[in-house]
Amino acid sequence: MATILEPGTGQPGRTNEVAPLLPDVKNPVLAPHWEAATRGRLAIRFCPGCNAPQWPPRYNCLACHGFDFQWREVADRGQLFTYFIARKALHPSLAHEVPYATAAVVLPIGVKMLGRLEGVELRSIRIGMPLRARYVRRSPEVTLIYWAPDTDGDA
Ligand SMILES: [Zn+2]
Repeated sequence: MATILEPGTGQPGRTNEVAPLLPDVKNPVLAPHWEAATRGRLAIRFCPGCNAPQWPPRYNCLACHGFDFQWREVADRGQLFTYFIARKALHPSLAHEVPYATAAVVLPIGVKMLGRLEGVELRSIRIGMPLRARYVRRSPEVTLIYWAPDTDGDA
């Protein structure tokens, strides 16, 4: 069975209550990303040696094989690259939310990022639509990054 990230808060429910599926924001691999999200910012790891973005973070830079990294805040807008619609919950805590869409968003810096797509009817989703990050606080430590149509229209 695949490993499921432990919820960042609370204890698993014993009866009808199921702890939400939240990321481990203390994991050092992604901690700066989640810390930035609590401030409403989108942070991506970069290689200072060749300036290549590293997303998702990897063991070393795929472009120059360097091992040094730094985190930079980037524009939190992008375009819908592709998406899928979950009609069966991937985790019991999501059962009341199906059907929902998960987007692969391509950022202006070229990396693709997965996240919940909201604020648009499922039948109105269009490849290439401009999106903007929406920061959803789930606890003092955990802020999730969802994506929604960019109504400013200048993504
Ligand atoms: Zn590099």
